[in-house]
Amino acid sequence: MAANRRGGAPAGAGGGGGGEPLNFETTEGVKVHTTFETMGLREELMRGIYAYGFEKPSAIQQRAIVPIISGRDVIAQAQSGTGKTSLIALTLCQLLDTSLREIQSLILSPTRELAGQTEKIILALGDFMNVQAHACVGGKSLGEDIRKLEHGVHIVSGTPGRVFDMIKRRSLRTRHIKAMVLDEADEMLSKGFKEQIYDVYRYLPETQVVLVSATLPHEVLEMSQKFMTDPIRVLVKRDELTLEGIKQFFVAVEREEWKFDTLCDLYDTLTITQAVIFCNTKRKVDWLTEKMRQNNFTVSSMHGDMPQKERDAIMAEFRSGRSRVLISTDVWARGLDVQQVSLVINYDLPNSRELYIHRIGRSGRYGRKGVAINFVRNDDIRILRDIEQYYSTQIDEMPMNVAELI
Ligand code: ADP
Ligand code: MG
Repeated sequence: MAANRRGGAPAGAGGGGGGEPLNFETTEGVKVHTTFETMGLREELMRGIYAYGFEKPSAIQQRAIVPIISGRDVIAQAQSGTGKTSLIALTLCQLLDTSLREIQSLILSPTRELAGQTEKIILALGDFMNVQAHACVGGKSLGEDIRKLEHGVHIVSGTPGRVFDMIKRRSLRTRHIKAMVLDEADEMLSKGFKEQIYDVYRYLPETQVVLVSATLPHEVLEMSQKFMTDPIRVLVKRDELTLEGIKQFFVAVEREEWKFDTLCDLYDTLTITQAVIFCNTKRKVDWLTEKMRQNNFTVSSMHGDMPQKERDAIMAEFRSGRSRVLISTDVWARGLDVQQVSLVINYDLPNSRELYIHRIGRSGRYGRKGVAINFVRNDDIRILRDIEQYYSTQIDEMPMNVAELI
């Protein structure tokens, strides 16, 4: 990952994190640490951080690392691609007692791919500390999970279903867990996941709780009071959530039937670097993939009904750059970090305002340039205007020279 980094934050990135606005609503008394040196991090972890290619902390890292490693409950919000998941990995390494080969922290993520990605970051940053981490996710061999967990690991990065299963089987011992982190916290506390999270939470001893996401709607902040103690908050205002670096456009396709030709016309633009195309259903992903292939375009595709082996293979292919155009569902909307992605297409507009932010945030990682293109039918225009207004952002008609912006 660090190996293909295109040189970190660009010039003029301000306080780090690739040029995100530095305006946070922060609990009073939170200090800003503009370097890693003053945070009191352990020596071996510092080596891991620099070896991974991080030179200075991003804005959210500058504010949230110290509260988390001092043991406080923390709610951290920042724009997509500005180092939140990395913040989790880094702080959990710092919090470890590596002489104790027991699970000491648990991160829950909404998708298997994200849980796996986070495990990899932990292993990289914690390399010099000999951190043992394990991705405990569905769709993989139970036996392997049990073996790994019983052998002993320090940090588990998982998806709720498999983690709960392992807890019930007593393969995942919770007794020494001191921190529970929800990445993409608003998703984890939404209808689909909430019960599962509580199931897991009930098996934990008293723990520190950390919530992280780019989007934290009011209801989620409210709900968090039930299981958090006097949390430190580092939040961004809604009108600063879209990144300057991601240019947003729309194409007025008028009717559903005309989306396909529009996409074909854009194909050369898609392959300039790498692109992700979002559809709202698995069926539509399959249909569009098939139709693109029939027309001799090379595309990959991924969704939650595919066998995990296949999902893994497609992820590996896309991460390595061997495939350049990926058609997917919202399984790809949150957290996944492929730095070469500079274009996102909403073939269908997303079903929520939050998903819009997460989808377009697959491009423009850590201050890189990005372009998002929304296909809008006549009856979608209202939705697009709503998104624009809600985030106080601008979505213009796609210009002819869009390829030059990538
Ligand atoms: P988020 O969770 O906020 O979307 P990630 O933690 O996934 O962001 O980080 C986005 C990208 O930025 C990743 O490629 C990560 O390696 C990189 N990154 C994170 N923190 C730093 C840093 N301090 N310096 C340089 N790159 C960083
Ligand atoms: Mg993340």
